[in-house]
Amino acid sequence: MVTGGAGYIGSHAVLALQQAGYKVVVLDNLVYGHRDLVETVLKAKLIEGDTNDRPLLDQLFASHDIAAVMHFAAYAYVGESVSDPAKYYRNNVIGTLTLLEAMLAANIKKFVFSSTCATYGIPEIVPIPEDHPQAPINPYGASKLMVERILADFDVAHQFKSVCFRYFNAAGADPQGRLGEDHEPETHLIPLVLQTALGKREAISVFGTDYPTPDGTCIRDYIHVTDLASAHVLGAEYLLKGGDSQVFNLGNGSGFSVKQVIETARQVTRRPITVIEQDRRPGDPPALTGSSEKAQTTLGWQPQYADLTQIIQHAWAWHQKRH
Ligand code: UDP
Repeated sequence: MVTGGAGYIGSHAVLALQQAGYKVVVLDNLVYGHRDLVETVLKAKLIEGDTNDRPLLDQLFASHDIAAVMHFAAYAYVGESVSDPAKYYRNNVIGTLTLLEAMLAANIKKFVFSSTCATYGIPEIVPIPEDHPQAPINPYGASKLMVERILADFDVAHQFKSVCFRYFNAAGADPQGRLGEDHEPETHLIPLVLQTALGKREAISVFGTDYPTPDGTCIRDYIHVTDLASAHVLGAEYLLKGGDSQVFNLGNGSGFSVKQVIETARQVTRRPITVIEQDRRPGDPPALTGSSEKAQTTLGWQPQYADLTQIIQHAWAWHQKRH
């Protein structure tokens, strides 16, 4: 079962699971997800509902033969988590706890969790290793860290096995153009830059040009969503083979500045992209990159699309088609 399978990363995970030969059932409340991606593109079974709905979960687990759960369903707007923390704790923490209790009751004890580099807060060193201290600076990151903690406790108490993936910046789209990023509202850099190239926005705002980085703009580690998806399949298979609970970073280990992303998008799209330089966005660390060596050695994961140009090419193909 994939929760949040109608969303950006979840839908790519469903596709990767299907390509690996698994049958997938999707649970999604469709608050941000897209029905057409699941029903028309992926042709997977969609159950419309919420992870907070325990009777629905009990019925779902009783009526399907579920080997493992991949959990993507969560709210993920950092700014909104600061202004409305209860929404994030209710959905991301209480919803997940409800799901975990329903899994325990159904004796399903294999769980792949969508966590985030936002659990680290402001890094002391980059690339960030998995044993770096976790000190999130917003409720979104805190909500994900709380779930990681619950999972560690469930393992001790119930031998409940989980793989937590801490993602860096998910980007790109299915290389064959079937799926891609479609957030409303959109807040992420690459889709906003591409919407500007398409003429749907007048300009892209660059949040802060006075950071202690070579060109003064923030550095992030962009990872292709198809590479994230393949890691999830490997994570689930690792658990199905009896693997112990683990935490893995998923990034490429190399960073690109906001200005480098915009310049690469100009080259890919061959369109003008107007930039407006603005003040820093509160809560943005100057540089975030992650070491994924552990996922490579433990799971045998190899990113296939580590090149930023290719990531933006795939995203551009999707944006032109979708919009
Ligand atoms: N960013 C920007 N303009 C935008 C959106 C984002 O300059 O319109 C910057 C943001 O400050 C950060 C980087 O782009 O340094 C990536 O931001 P995004 O929201 O895509 O991901 P985040 O790193 O916050 O998860």
